Amino acid sequence: MNLRKITLASAALLAMVSFKTSAQDYPVLDPSNIDHSVRPGDNFFKYANGNWLKNNPIPATETRWGSFNELQENNYKALHQLLDDAAKNRTAPKGSRDQKVGDFYRSGMDSVAIEKAGITPLNGVFSRIDNIKNINELIAEIGKEHTEGIGTLYGFGVSPDDKNVSREIVQFGQAGIGLPDRDYYFNTDARTTKIRDAYKEYIPQMFMLMGEPEAEAKKDGKDVYDFEVKLATASMTRVERRDPYKTYNKYSLQNVNEVTPGLDWKKVFASLEIKNEDTMLIGMPVFFKAVAVELTATPMNTWKKYLKFHLVNGMAPFLSSKFDQARFDFYSTKMRGQKEQKPRWKRVLSVVDGSVGELLGQMYVEKYFTPEAKKRMQELVNNLQETYADRIKNLEWMSDETKKIALVKLGTFVKKIGYTDKWKDYSKLTIGNVYVTNIMASAKFEYDYDMSKLGHPVDRTVWGMTPPTVNAYYNPGFNEIVFPAGILQFPFFNFKADDAVNYGGIGAVIGHEMTHGFDDEGRLYDASGNLTNWWTPADSAKFEERAGVVVKQFNNSVVLDTVHVNGKLTEGENLADLGGLSIAYQAFKKTKEGHSDEKIDGFTPDQRFFLSWAQVWRANTRDQEMASRIMTDPHSPSELRCNVPISNMEAWYKAFNIQPTDKMYRPADERAKVW
Ligand SMILES: [Zn+2]
Repeated sequence: MNLRKITLASAALLAMVSFKTSAQDYPVLDPSNIDHSVRPGDNFFKYANGNWLKNNPIPATETRWGSFNELQENNYKALHQLLDDAAKNRTAPKGSRDQKVGDFYRSGMDSVAIEKAGITPLNGVFSRIDNIKNINELIAEIGKEHTEGIGTLYGFGVSPDDKNVSREIVQFGQAGIGLPDRDYYFNTDARTTKIRDAYKEYIPQMFMLMGEPEAEAKKDGKDVYDFEVKLATASMTRVERRDPYKTYNKYSLQNVNEVTPGLDWKKVFASLEIKNEDTMLIGMPVFFKAVAVELTATPMNTWKKYLKFHLVNGMAPFLSSKFDQARFDFYSTKMRGQKEQKPRWKRVLSVVDGSVGELLGQMYVEKYFTPEAKKRMQELVNNLQETYADRIKNLEWMSDETKKIALVKLGTFVKKIGYTDKWKDYSKLTIGNVYVTNIMASAKFEYDYDMSKLGHPVDRTVWGMTPPTVNAYYNPGFNEIVFPAGILQFPFFNFKADDAVNYGGIGAVIGHEMTHGFDDEGRLYDASGNLTNWWTPADSAKFEERAGVVVKQFNNSVVLDTVHVNGKLTEGENLADLGGLSIAYQAFKKTKEGHSDEKIDGFTPDQRFFLSWAQVWRANTRDQEMASRIMTDPHSPSELRCNVPISNMEAWYKAFNIQPTDKMYRPADERAKVW
């Protein structure tokens, strides 16, 4: 849970390289995407992508559509074929990889059985909730649900201790609210108010679907909402949570009661089946203090309704269509502007990937992973790493003392490329014919897997993403950069593309992940992954001053009528984009093409580098989706991810002859440079 995995893009929303989706003879950098009516210096994103943006409206099943989505479609097709084949194979031995993947997928596609079952697969949990008689039984039920993958009220997981990453420890965090962020309960702007009002109608709607009369459903809905407001009030903001010191609070079973009087942690541990452990990390002690108060202050009936609502809300996508549709209407349509559901196969595909991803991933890499791509990627990563080291050595603002340690950290990055060396063992997981049951069984399997880590040395071979995932991440606890197979094949990698295009695309992505090791969060961890201060106070102050320039640039950016980007929330990603692009540019300049001034399609090598970067970020985004992301996504909107970093780079000004009269022009003394 507390694995601080810093990704390139939020779940499945990465835009990456600028190739078309077919292997035929498309140009690797498509000049027809360019809108020549826009001056490059006025809005480079619109200049580079204007025609593409006009010609590629957002499909009804999407809330955003960009280069990533086009490429992801290819991946979907490959996985769809694998799943169809596995589902058709009725002779796979019971317990085999093909049986588990095939039956899981088939159970999800069996909409007739799902419709017929309705909500009945949850009956067992409902009756347990009905039978709760006192606070101890309430604590026991909440813990039991966590072991079944229905995590309600708080977050729980086992992961390495931030200050001693060789040891696994139990970790607790805030959770339990139905809106995507605490701010949704308090912000007073019109958009958020509308969503909050819709949520207040959605909760009673779910109670009615469960069979309650309208009046009772309305009362229960209000009680549940009011209870969530209390949880939200006690919750930390996303910006506060970016500080790993603030969320690092270690307690023993003996002293924890001082901060959360009234909450019996021994019972919490027992309910979660935690054995032989007496210490824990609590991300947000204030939240658990409030939970302890509510155990007695909130009527038992409200607690039961709260548990039932979250049970059904969480499982709705896997229940009969009335539950699924109600949830879709609220979370996808009203909140994010999605007009139609994605086809069923795509939704089930995501669930199978999320549940038994290392089984499906084995099939995927056997068929689609190319060792050449891995080799090429390794070369690129090494080039970028060397260039980054040069840049650190030459930093004018950092002392030699801190540089020495930074270089050790950079030099010891673990590089994971493609897929895991050690597949997860799923032999204890049974998959049958009932979709919801399969989902709960795999959640239980994951829970047991998580718990089995306790008392054992930390296994650093584990992956936080499945092989087909089209994304990448940096994990400060392991000091590792990870690139799943999903991004390592055509069209993400194009051997036919010139270096300018590859360095402006995948090169900048590699640099992005590396810079996460030195962004506002990553820099707080050392080479071995421990949260420890290796900076001199003077260097820390200089870093913050320089990073502050980037924060200000984004705070000043408006993307949607009056909505400003939160520069603090997006600080790490913005630093990674600026650092990544700068490193990639310098590495590109070492290549043959980087030295030449030979034009391709009428563009110089430097122009192609920046055009490639810009076309990576091409995307149309619905207003609702944009507004929701501004509140919750640590990544800035695509247009800004394209435009702001380059506005800090002298090379871009030169490449496109940008003048002080151009809208994107930044005076030299206002440009940011950190890494
Ligand atoms: Zn990132």
